[in-house]
Order: sequence, then C-alpha cells, then structure tokens
Amino acid sequence: MGYPAAFRRKNPESRRLFEEQVMWSLARSSDIVLEIDLDSIRINFRTVLTLVGPQVRVAAVVKSDAYGLGIVNIASALIDVGCDLLFVANLEEALLLRSCFGGIAIAVFRDEFHRFGAWYKSHDLIPVVNNCEELHAAATVGEAQTYFLNVETGFARFGLSVADVQRQNLLRTFERYRPSIVLSHLACSECIWDATNVLQRERFRAVYELLKPTRGSLAASAGVWLGKSYHFDMVRIGSAIYGINNAGTQTNPLQPVVKLRARILDVRSVPIGEAVGYGATFRTARASRIAIVAIGYKHGIPWSCANKIFVRLGEYLVPSIGRISMEYMTIDVTDIPAERCVPGDFVELLNDDLTVNNLAAAAGVSPQETLTRLGAGCPRKYLNFSPSAAFTASRPMTVRSPSRAKSRPMDK
Ligand SMILES: *Cc1c(COP(=O)(O)O)cnc(C)c1O
Repeated sequence: MGYPAAFRRKNPESRRLFEEQVMWSLARSSDIVLEIDLDSIRINFRTVLTLVGPQVRVAAVVKSDAYGLGIVNIASALIDVGCDLLFVANLEEALLLRSCFGGIAIAVFRDEFHRFGAWYKSHDLIPVVNNCEELHAAATVGEAQTYFLNVETGFARFGLSVADVQRQNLLRTFERYRPSIVLSHLACSECIWDATNVLQRERFRAVYELLKPTRGSLAASAGVWLGKSYHFDMVRIGSAIYGINNAGTQTNPLQPVVKLRARILDVRSVPIGEAVGYGATFRTARASRIAIVAIGYKHGIPWSCANKIFVRLGEYLVPSIGRISMEYMTIDVTDIPAERCVPGDFVELLNDDLTVNNLAAAAGVSPQETLTRLGAGCPRKYLNFSPSAAFTASRPMTVRSPSRAKSRPMDK
C-alpha cells in the first residue's frame, strides 16, 4: 500500500487510519462509473489502419494519460492490434510506459532532450527534437540516438522553423545524423475547407523533399479525413482512437469508447416558481420532481452545459436543469413514473447515442478537453481487458539513474 514510510515508523495510528480508508473505498460501490471499452479502442485503431492503407504507418498518441483514459491499459489494447509507435507528452509518461512494455517505440513530444538525453538513451526513448539546442544534443550523441524532428509550419508552438531547416549548416547535420521522421502539426484540420491546411501542407512538403529519405508525418486524427495528400508516411492519431468524431462532413466510422453513468442520490418535490441551484438559472414552471445526481464539474462535467443537456434514465431522456455544481447536478424527472426514478438508480450521461461530441458541443468546449477532464475526474472501469502479450515482453525498469542527467546540458 502506498502510505509514506514515515507513517509506519512514527505513527501507527495514522497507518491504521490510512488502511481503514483504503478498505472503506474498496468496500463501497462507486457513485460514478466511466466505462472504457478496450475493444472499441482496438476497433478504432484498426479502422484508421484501413482508412489510410498499407503504405501509411499509424502511430498512437497516448499523451495526458491517454486523454484521461489510462495510459497503460490503453497502450496495452493498442499494442494488441499491432500498434508499434506511441507518442507521449513527457518523460514521466514515457518511463511509465517503458516500465510496462518493451519492444515498442515510444516517442516524447517535448521534454528537454538537451538536459535529459541520458534518460532517453538508457530507456530507449525517442525524443521529438523541437529546437536547435536539442538538435545539437542529438548530433552530439551521434548515430546511436534515434530522433524525430518537429518543424513549425503554421501553429507557432514548437519546432524548428522552415528557414532553420534550410540553413546549410543544419542541412549538413541532418545528412550526418538523419532524423528518422520529420513531423509538423496542423492547426485547422477540423475544417476541411480551411486554406491554412493547404498552406501548412505545402510548407511541410518543401521540408519533406529537402530531408528525403527521412519519412514525414503531418496529420493527426482530423488530418486523416483531409485525404491522402495529407498522410505522407505516417499519421499520429489520438482522439480518433478514443472515439471522438473528427470526420467533419463525412460519415464517422469510429465507435464510441466510453459510457458514463452516475447515481441518483435524492428525489424531491419542488413547488411551482421555485429556483433550482446556484444563480437560480432555472425556475420551475410547474410543480416538479427534481433528482440530484452524484456528478459535477469536479468530475469533468463542463459547467457550461448547464440547462443544455439530457441524460438517459431507462428509456427516458431527462433534461439537466440549473447550474452544474462541484459534486452534483440536477435533472427534471417530473414526467418520469415515480417508481422509475429512485435514489440509488443510475442515469447515463454518455452512451452510444449521447456522445462526447454531443456533450462538448452543448458546453461549447472541445471534445478532447471534455474527455480528458472526465477521464481524470471519474472512477474508471475497463471492459475487455486482456493483458497484452507485450506486458510479458516488458523489461524490468533499470533502477540506476543516468548520472550525467543531473541538470547539466549534455553538450560540452
Ligand atoms: C495531440 C497531438 C496529436 C494527436 O491529436 P488528435 O487530434 O487527438 O489526433 C498529434 N500530434 C501532435 C503534435 C499532438 O500534440
């Protein structure tokens, strides 16, 4: 158990309390369940494989704890269906994945390669090189260091500029120490008609031609639907795996991955003309029955979806009324037979029809944000988990920390 060692030695009472708390949380059933179907994860990955065709590699993006859904379990499901390259946000996520899975490539979107190069090397991680300092560090390690190169084409986040790449001295560096993949990120791929897409693609193509035979990767999930000319040699998909609809105007072949339900805590009668919740944003227009549901913005329900969404209760669709509060939300169950709405029952907030896209649209936020917050805020339950064969192939984590990594830049 994870209690601090100091508790154990100095304070047996706090150890006992800690253990009691753990036992209690195991004993009680959760008021909220975010159900994650790993088979849907596998199917969505395969669907994109088919969409892009055999010439294009599909890498999976599992940053931010796999968009909140749990990086290790999601990675395991992806590896089951042949995914061999995973992108993570930082070294912390990379080291966690590496401790579970050997034999797959893990690339880190951004984490100070020039300072922590020794960690990348000893755990076989691939840095995405985002600036000249990191490039210099990669060149200093030499051929032994596989790296990807990020080039900025119109997002103004990380990456070398196109002009940087074209500089003669850097071109010589690239010739000697070739990046295995050059990548860039699209700003407007959700809008198929946005001219920014073409501009970024053409800037990227110039760099791609210059760095050949280095392979290229421009598209994330939404870019898959922009068509073949955006796929280059590899796509990097995150949200598509998690069932978010990026298909724009086209039919969406992806499956929803999550279901979310929360428990009804109380049902009460409210007379006509009374206010419901903070700010009195809802006032009853008739004598009403209101159910209080055990989920709020702390768990990731967007505050801004107040009075705008429906939840499912059995065969009924029930409107959310009043503000979403920290731990609770309220629904209007006046039209539901009393015996069909009892404290202890669950309502569904997400299912195959009520999707993350719907919830996000009602709230005026992005589906990625909505999913990541719900994943981080709700107790998660996995369906169709089978420990990936890759688990068994995993190597024990090397405990020795690379001494050169202290905080000194690796380059002289
Ligand atoms: C997050 C991210 C992706 C994946 O984006 P989705 O739209 O969720 O597929 C790909 N590339 C980069 C650089 C990213 O930051």
